Amino acid sequence: MSQPAGANAPVVSLRGLRKEFPGVGGGSRVVAVDGVDLDIAEGEFVTLLGPSGSGKTTVLRMIAGFETPSGGQVLLRGADVTPTAPFERDVNTVFQDYALFPHMTVLQNVEYGLRVKKVPRAQRRERALEALAGVRLEGMEKRAPGQLSGGQRQRVALARALVNRPSVLLLDEPLGALDLKLREQMQVELKQIQREVGITFVFVTHDQEEALTMSDRIVVFNRGRVDQVGTPAEIYEHPRTTFVAGFVGTSNLLHAKASEALLGEAGLFSVRPEKIRLLADGEDPVMGETVAPAVVEEVVYAGATTRIVARLDAGDSLVVQRQNQRTSSLDTEALRGARVRLAWSREHASRLPDDDG
Ligand code: ATP
Repeated sequence: MSQPAGANAPVVSLRGLRKEFPGVGGGSRVVAVDGVDLDIAEGEFVTLLGPSGSGKTTVLRMIAGFETPSGGQVLLRGADVTPTAPFERDVNTVFQDYALFPHMTVLQNVEYGLRVKKVPRAQRRERALEALAGVRLEGMEKRAPGQLSGGQRQRVALARALVNRPSVLLLDEPLGALDLKLREQMQVELKQIQREVGITFVFVTHDQEEALTMSDRIVVFNRGRVDQVGTPAEIYEHPRTTFVAGFVGTSNLLHAKASEALLGEAGLFSVRPEKIRLLADGEDPVMGETVAPAVVEEVVYAGATTRIVARLDAGDSLVVQRQNQRTSSLDTEALRGARVRLAWSREHASRLPDDDG
């Protein structure tokens, strides 16, 4: 038996969760989710991050109840809901394609769930208006979904889920259809809304920047398994596997030969590009800095920053990211082919396991 349901239990717990799908056309079975354990606390914004096909959506669908696990359990506030139907779970899902009813107004769309639950009309209206205000859509009640922008439609979808006041809101790539500017704006807004309503959000994305921007904790998926769980800073600054180092941010690896020469320790290390600086001619490194002589192979000017690829004398190439505070594209061009010295603080070289593939 699982632990008794209670206020102190995590809002969502996954225990050894597993999902296999039959192979298509007689092919071998697909293990989409391969033993996932996770606890999510009340009010947390947790992001499931991973490349396409890594199992994030399948995990979300098992929490929602749209998919039955092949093994393991889903618990909501300590109660095992693995056999429970989706509509009997205290969770709501927001999908990427919004799934709004086109023939209903914004208000009717938001009220819909309450109407199904037979909430009286006046109360329905009050809660729907409150939910619309919560997603900053006052004054749009009478419009049809077709008269809204993509970002506004996404907010209606959010209001429609929030109006039910679920314990947990599941969001499957909800910003995926928006263009980059709107997406960045919605990332900030969504986080603000989540803070205001205090509902636990479980958010699926394959976009590492989105995950870093919005989450209290990130769960990194790699082929159906969880590689690492941590705060954005933990995941970014101290990746625990080569996969995490490469998927979240730029993979900047020092292998055994270079690490032995530079750090005095043979192993696999990751150093983030913005932690590395170029020493000026005659400049001494500061205490605790590792210095690596190198030749610049490539320079890419990107407006706010410049990315420099440098081949170390000790072996391996590293990417250096430099803020363009005083430089212009002309200065950076002169760097190509130049001999330079890279420097970084020793604490910014994170050791990775050597054999995690
Ligand atoms: P994406 O970001 O592309 O949605 P994901 O990380 O969410 O990817 P899932 O959609 O969970 O990944 O899929 C995990 C694996 O399970 C994939 O190999 C996928 O092809 C497979 N899969 C998912 N749903 C089914 C299904 N209904 N039948 C068969 N295989 C499936």
